[in-house]
This record gives sequence, C-alpha cells and structure tokens, in this order.
Amino acid sequence: MRHGYGLESPASRSQVVVSTLFTGVIRRTENPGSQIVSEQSHRLDVAATEPEPDGSMLPFERPAPAPAPGQAPGQAPAPTAELGPTGRPMPVLPEPTPLSVHGGARVVSMCNQKGGVGKTTTTINLGASLAEYGRKVLLVDFDPQGSLSVGLGLNPHEMDLTIYNLLLQADVTLDDVVVPSGVPGMDLLPSNIDLSAAEVQLVNEVAREQTLQRVLAPALADYDVILIDCQPSLGLLTVNALTASDGVIVPLECEYFALRGVALLKTTIDKVRERLNPRLEIEGVLGTMFDGRTLHGREVMERLVQAWGDTVFHTVIRRTVKFSDSTVAGEPITTYASSSAGADAYRQLAKEVLSRWPDA
Ligand code: ADP
Ligand code: MG
Repeated sequence: MRHGYGLESPASRSQVVVSTLFTGVIRRTENPGSQIVSEQSHRLDVAATEPEPDGSMLPFERPAPAPAPGQAPGQAPAPTAELGPTGRPMPVLPEPTPLSVHGGARVVSMCNQKGGVGKTTTTINLGASLAEYGRKVLLVDFDPQGSLSVGLGLNPHEMDLTIYNLLLQADVTLDDVVVPSGVPGMDLLPSNIDLSAAEVQLVNEVAREQTLQRVLAPALADYDVILIDCQPSLGLLTVNALTASDGVIVPLECEYFALRGVALLKTTIDKVRERLNPRLEIEGVLGTMFDGRTLHGREVMERLVQAWGDTVFHTVIRRTVKFSDSTVAGEPITTYASSSAGADAYRQLAKEVLSRWPDA
C-alpha cells in the first residue's frame, strides 16, 4: 500500500466521535412537572474513540482465505474462472428460480452516511432488476430529499400521502400510501421534505426506533423484497431503517477517502444489532462508480477486497453518465437503457444478492 494514496490516514491520528443511538428510555429533565424533554436527553450518547480506518482497525475484516488443497501457503490459488473486476475469480451466479408464491419479504437497507455514493441509484436499479426476476418488490424512500421518489418520476409537490403520514398518523394505512413505481412488480412508499420533521417528532413516540418496522409489518406478507433507501446520516431515521431490516448493503464509491467514516457506520450497525435487532446482517459492500481503466480505480478496489474479503460483492457498478440520464428520465436504467452495461451490472447484482439469501 503506497503512502499518500488517500484511503489511509496516519495510524496515530484518532478522532473522538459521538455516536448517537436512540434508546427506549425516557429521562425527565430537572423540572419534575415538565413533559417536554430535550431531544438530547433521549439519546444514549456513546463517546467512542474511533480511529479512522488505517489498516489496523478495519471494519468487516475477514481473515485471509485458507490455501486450497494442494496449494502451498502463500501461493495464489489456481484460477478456476476468469478474474472479475474485484480481482477475484468471478463465480458463476445461478439464474434466479421463478417464485410461485409471494410473501415473507426480506428487508434490506442501503446505508452509508456519506451522500452521493449510490444508495438511491442502487435501491432503484436493484429493485427493478429483482422485479425483472419475478420478485415482488417494495421500495421505501426514507430520505427527506425524496430522490428515490423523484428518480421514479414522482413530483414531490404533488404527493398526497407519504411515508411521513404513515409513520406518524395512526389512521393512515400502508395501502393509503403505496403507489406503483412504473416498473411492473415494484411499488413505492414515497417521501418528500415532510419526512425531515419526523426525525424530531418520532423522539416523543413510544418505541420510536421500531416505528418503521411496525408500519412495514403488513407489507411483509405481500412482497418478496423490501428495499429501504436511507438518508445520508446515522440519525433516528437510519436507526429505524436498520431496526426494520434483515440486512444492510453498504454502497461505497471507489474513490479517495471511500473508507472514511465506515468504521462509525459499522459501530452503529453493531449497536443496533446488539440492542434493537439481533437478526441484522451485513449483506455486502458494493463498489460503485468504479473506473477499471485507471490505476487508481483498480487500487481502491484492491484495498476494499483486502479489507473486507468476501463481504465485497463480486459485482461492481462502473461509472457511467447513463445513471444520471435515467434519473432525469424518472425511470430505472434497466428500462431506460435496458441493454446497457449499467443495467446488466444491476441485474448481475440482483443474481448475486439472491444467491446470498437463504430462501430467495
Ligand atoms: P446517494 O443516494 O448515496 O446520495 P445517488 O444514488 O443519488 O447517491 O448517486 C449520486 C449521483 O451519482 C447521482 O447523480 C447519480 O445519478 C450518480 N451516480 C450513481 N451511480 C453512478 C455510477 N455508477 N456512475 C455514474 N454516476 C452515478
Ligand atoms: Mg440518496
């Protein structure tokens, strides 16, 4: 690993990070008559010394694979297949089997507190690809910026009801809020800027971290997959998404500083697993905006695989302007440019994701 390359920071440098997790404990303020407690007093503030990833403390780290039978230690395994873009042999991904019955949805969050890493693009296009493979898919726009809804052609000013109403109004049901996404087999729970108020309002709810899980419960029987597009923060909305999920996919831009902040994301996932949702798993790390033509792109990819081993998906999403074009068109790349490399990459991701799920 060369120095000054960007993914590393000096090992001595550490940062005090205050990670905020929301607990169900309500503490009163000094004033005994007051029902109003500050938002801060609802939080369990965990001060942690969180070193920036530097090679000594890498989240999701995997031990080096054991040598294959007949292979001398330290020697590269005999290539069994063509090398994929991650530098590992590309496995043959099974064709997804058609489903005759639907339901028992697996819930997966796209999560990274960094913006612009491909969370929304992955939610739309992985969802559309899973729908092409016959899965019934529900997308949940859980970002007040509403990019997922806009990316599927909705006008944020013309939404009657959004996920905000579902979260905070007892008389609003899931069926009132779900809209078709324009892709057969895929529906959407839309959002707009109203959702930004939910973060504050939820603080006063009972079991506030479980609110999304509770409102999504009726959808589990109807869908095969529910994908939640998280906002770029680790606040209460994201904690709700993680609490409602079986798995997390972490999209990471294959760029300088890609690993920055991922240690904190890993800590948050671990705390949610310990305190709120023991079934939460990391499904995989997805390299996005990859440019295999540059040495830099290949080096970043090598570093990701060194750090996280098989947690990194074999599928990699390359950088192409077609993604922004399809957002402007308000549809997934799988329909906007159906035979493009970008569309094929997300179809391959869908196959890889399904191959990792126990009963998909
Ligand atoms: P996030 O949801 O993490 O903020 P987005 O999915 O909205 O990230 O992506 C940020 C921007 O990058 C969008 O304009 C999107 O069109 C573009 N983008 C996403 N993936 C790619 C890619 N593989 N190649 C080029 N541009 C991309
Ligand atoms: Mg987004």
